[in-house]
Amino acid sequence: MTNFSEHIKKEPFVTISRVAAETKTSVYVIGGYVRDLFLHRQSKDVDVVVVGSGIAFARKVAAAFGSGVNAKYFKNFGTAMVRYKSWEMEFVGARKESYRRDSRKPIVENGSLSDDQKRRDFTINAMSISLQENDFGKLYDPFNGQEDIENTTIRTPLDPDITFSDDPLRMMRAIRFATQLGFSIAENTFDAIGRNRNRISIVSKERILDELNLIVMAPMPSIGFELLDETGLLKNIFPKLVELKGVEKVGNQSHKDNFYHTLEVLDNLAKKSDNLWLRWAAILHDIAKPVTKKFEPKTGWTFHQHEFIGEKMVPGIFRNLKLPMNEKMRYVQKLVRLHLRPIVLAQDIVTDSAIRRLLFDAGDDVDDLMQLCEADITSKNEYKVKKYLNNFALVRKKLKEVDKKDKIRNWQPPITGEIIMETFGLAPSRKVGDLKKIIREAILDGEISNNFEEAYTFLLEQGRKMGLGVKKVVEIPEEGKEITNDNKTNLK
Ligand code: ATP
Repeated sequence: MTNFSEHIKKEPFVTISRVAAETKTSVYVIGGYVRDLFLHRQSKDVDVVVVGSGIAFARKVAAAFGSGVNAKYFKNFGTAMVRYKSWEMEFVGARKESYRRDSRKPIVENGSLSDDQKRRDFTINAMSISLQENDFGKLYDPFNGQEDIENTTIRTPLDPDITFSDDPLRMMRAIRFATQLGFSIAENTFDAIGRNRNRISIVSKERILDELNLIVMAPMPSIGFELLDETGLLKNIFPKLVELKGVEKVGNQSHKDNFYHTLEVLDNLAKKSDNLWLRWAAILHDIAKPVTKKFEPKTGWTFHQHEFIGEKMVPGIFRNLKLPMNEKMRYVQKLVRLHLRPIVLAQDIVTDSAIRRLLFDAGDDVDDLMQLCEADITSKNEYKVKKYLNNFALVRKKLKEVDKKDKIRNWQPPITGEIIMETFGLAPSRKVGDLKKIIREAILDGEISNNFEEAYTFLLEQGRKMGLGVKKVVEIPEEGKEITNDNKTNLK
């Protein structure tokens, strides 16, 4: 296929082509849109390269689309964006780039189409289709991108050592495209990533993270992480994950390789969920295994407390990777902390109180937690997998029943700190916290019911045991009414 006129004989290309003819400008579609045409992927993101000023041309195109359409331009980059219907078009002047050693910001000069194609990252992203009248739809493919698409190969247009050294972010992009498209990286391109990996230090962490997150969100993220590991780049950008690698043996007892296990969990989860943060929880669920690993002669390899230490490691990892230090991080921490709980439940006889506890601790994230735990089953023994999945199905069923009955999810105990302070005339102190906890635990354990009356009587009893005098008996808000989230504010 060398002529694409049939594919681009439509808006917005027809208008761009008309403006090109009127202004005698050479204009080409380039990059992702052309690549995706070959891959039969629909796209509405169009990159247009203009021999001359991209901004001036974009203004004329916007005017030609009619009133209400504007070109938004970014002078520093020499680019302009035009939105028309659902299309997003970015116009850029063809350029020639030369790089300095210490920066990925090039010295830019005006150039030809061919110069512009040389500065592109991969052969499959350097293909262009003409929008000129005289050769409308003609493919310009100087680096055989079409062949690389057919052979599912990622390859740089120039010597890969130059392409990667010029802009080291391209190493991440190579692995990202390989992961998203299921392509392999050409051998010399792959080897050059290994040689240039230390140059990634001149790239901002935010840009690295953007690419890493695209890998995490790919259908099979393990492809990307394995490539990152094999090229050595993973050591540069996320060394803690590399530490999960390896198997140790004492006598004939070895533990599993936690790096490959983690990737399997991530892939399993990716089949079920496109929640980026749940995927991050999968990546980090066993992150503390290397630091907690111990061989105990009686039990073999153990990773005691790795869920709690892992939870504590999450903020440092988030900070380093420039992931957000907000509720997303706390969600990941929570899932890391709780990831063994459903497993313990599935092994034991499931009691209502254990289920209530899990619902209380996980809140609305309990379904995500169950998904993580199911993904965490990576045994090769089909019988075991079936057994575990059945157990989890039971836990899920029980969770539903108890949740419906006891409304523990997002629940707040009926006795607040204020009520305790008022009752015993206490100032905010540890005692108040202890009493609150005792009441909460008694309800979760099913010792007392989840209502104000029983809880308050229990509080008075506990207070007496601790030698506290009652200063004021707080009134029951609405007699006999069960305290749920909907009416707990009545207590204040
Ligand atoms: P997707 O939208 O799926 O990420 P894309 O190829 O459109 O794919 P963009 O990041 O939007 O990706 O880049 C558009 C085009 O710009 C690319 O196809 C490529 O030709 C070029 N490009 C982007 N980043 C670089 C880079 N760091 N070095 C060289 N060329 C680049």
